[in-house]
Amino acid sequence: MKIAVYPGSFDPITLGHLNIIKRASRIFDRVIVCVAVNSAKKPTFTLKERADFVSRVTGKYGNVDVATCDGLLVDFAREQKAGFIIKGLRAVSDFEMEFQIALLNKKLAPEIETVFLTADEKYTYLSSTIAREMATYNADISKVVPREITADVLRRLSNK
Ligand code: ADP
Repeated sequence: MKIAVYPGSFDPITLGHLNIIKRASRIFDRVIVCVAVNSAKKPTFTLKERADFVSRVTGKYGNVDVATCDGLLVDFAREQKAGFIIKGLRAVSDFEMEFQIALLNKKLAPEIETVFLTADEKYTYLSSTIAREMATYNADISKVVPREITADVLRRLSNK
């Protein structure tokens, strides 16, 4: 069984993330979306909120599960018996950092392969930062985050 882990902060999950999840779910038998604590970033939404959002929008995919993780990604992947780590690439700017992380993970866990999926052209400009920024100004975020969570994201971030 081919199991893949898709890690990120998902602060909040965007249509770009969801596109990667959907495509990965067709490639792998099981996809585990790992919502990371990531001490380097100070998230806007709590870990529970971020994981709940991901659960809500991925509920319709039978082979996608959601988990939170606090330690090393490769440890989590091994615990889950995952042989693959999925990363989405939006632009060359993503590549440098992701390439470094992939090489490091390969050193730590040679049996785990990192698989890069290129962002859908429609979503290359999308990031959680943009979603949060737009929500702050009460802008229409329906083209940025999945519709199941738009109201909650706006309620939390809109200044109006
Ligand atoms: P961000 O970089 O927006 O803070 P995350 O840390 O949650 O997002 O990213 C998790 C993963 O999703 C990374 O592999 C990242 O490159 C990828 N990703 C983020 N936004 C998109 C997008 N719009 N399209 C495809 N992949 C994306």
